[in-house]
Amino acid sequence: MTAFDRDYHMSINGKLASSATVIDVINPATGEAFAAAPDCSREQLDEAVNAARTAFRSWKRVPIDERAAQLDKAGDVILQHLEELTRLFTQEQGRPTEGARGEIALAGNWLKTLSKVRPPVHVSEDSDQQFIETRYVPLGAVCAIAPWNFPVNLAIWKIAPALLAGNTMVLKPSPFTPLCMLKIGELLLDVFPPGVLNIISGDDSLGPQMTAHPGFAKISFTGSTATGKKVMESAAKDLKRVTLELGGNDAAIVLPDVDVDEVAEKIFFGAFFNTAQICVATKRLYVHEDVYDKLRDRLAAIAKAVKVGDGADQGTVLGPLQNKRQYTRVLELLEDARQNNLTLIEGADVPGNGGYFIPVTLVDNPPESARVVQEEAFGPILPLLKFSDIDDVIARANDSEYGLAGAIWTGDPERGLEIARQLETGTVWINQNLNLRPDTPFAGHKQSGFGVENGMEGLLEFMVPQAVYLAR
Ligand code: NAD
Repeated sequence: MTAFDRDYHMSINGKLASSATVIDVINPATGEAFAAAPDCSREQLDEAVNAARTAFRSWKRVPIDERAAQLDKAGDVILQHLEELTRLFTQEQGRPTEGARGEIALAGNWLKTLSKVRPPVHVSEDSDQQFIETRYVPLGAVCAIAPWNFPVNLAIWKIAPALLAGNTMVLKPSPFTPLCMLKIGELLLDVFPPGVLNIISGDDSLGPQMTAHPGFAKISFTGSTATGKKVMESAAKDLKRVTLELGGNDAAIVLPDVDVDEVAEKIFFGAFFNTAQICVATKRLYVHEDVYDKLRDRLAAIAKAVKVGDGADQGTVLGPLQNKRQYTRVLELLEDARQNNLTLIEGADVPGNGGYFIPVTLVDNPPESARVVQEEAFGPILPLLKFSDIDDVIARANDSEYGLAGAIWTGDPERGLEIARQLETGTVWINQNLNLRPDTPFAGHKQSGFGVENGMEGLLEFMVPQAVYLAR
């Protein structure tokens, strides 16, 4: 029987592994350490990479339908431990129970759905002279590095396609949120052969050791744009393949024909779910001047009504910031807004108990040049910006180094589609938000990413084409 409240181990070569030193894991709702995770040594990293490389030789030859069956079973195992993982998730990540349960369930189901995808085989000639086909083959041992905001699902986005394609993996969760993935690694020891999926943990110095490791064929990374650039630089030394899912500063555009009462709550949670720590959350809200005051006041009323607190307490809707580094950064952005005399509208009070809590804050029509508009806050501070001309607002939305996602709110779907085609982002939502699916590609444009996750395109990022010519 796996205990979920203690004994956190890495999974290396089919066995549990502890370490000489540990890293503290902090509950962000209290600011206090409540568990310890292993701090992987250099020797253990080498062991994990060697195990993944050895396992690759046999795993790639397992028929894809059998690999898929094991991934499907992995999904079931996660779903069977939904409640234990949900509790642990809230403790380490801070998100209230309902949203925590949603992520674990999504992760289990993501594995099951993605396991049904199959790579294509192209036949370019089948004649008396020759037969030519191109199939896709796996790459080898994959290095996977995940962030803390969706620590389980974003790891599964890597595990599912990589293993289905026939690769093996060494995965490192964020040092802020390692526990759920360590426990999932333990649970899956009975599902995959030794070495196919290794999960290790450690502080921020482990990531660079992994990306520089010559044993990996590919790096799949999700995190900030700044770190993504370092990952790409490190990968260049021996031309490892890379997929980078990075930061965003997503704009939402609200047209004058919306029903404000109908959309206000959807827009609010599109910005603030997970305490606004979502790569694809609305981070700049452009509102037409005809509906600006009404929408601002509705959003302010929701912000006042939403309970912010410990995610383990019943009735909590928004939890703390996930870690002290992020908490300090958002406080600093708020201070900058105050110093520049921007108008701030604060939501409900937050606990003052040493947890990383910041009230939901709306910024009332700041200048476009304000830091809170230009930078990815990744926390509960949202600038509302007034516009009158649609071409002008599209240009303002596109005037960003990022290009992850965007949203349009309108009473006219055709108009929404027309504007969507003009946005320079990998995903656009019209009258909805934050909807991502295993069968649909997710790709950051500009400095929001490099490559694709999910869908057939995401699977093929873990494979290379091999053309075979047969003379007849
Ligand atoms: P981060 O870049 O600080 O860390 C991400 C991961 O990289 C962690 O596991 C960390 O330990 C590791 N790491 C740190 N330094 C490293 C290095 N030099 N080499 C290799 N690995 C290293 O990001 P974060 O603060 O954990 O996450 C927040 C950021 O992630 C935000 O910018 C957010 O927009 C982005 N994000 C993007 C997506 C997406 O799919 N595009 C999804 C979620 C989060």
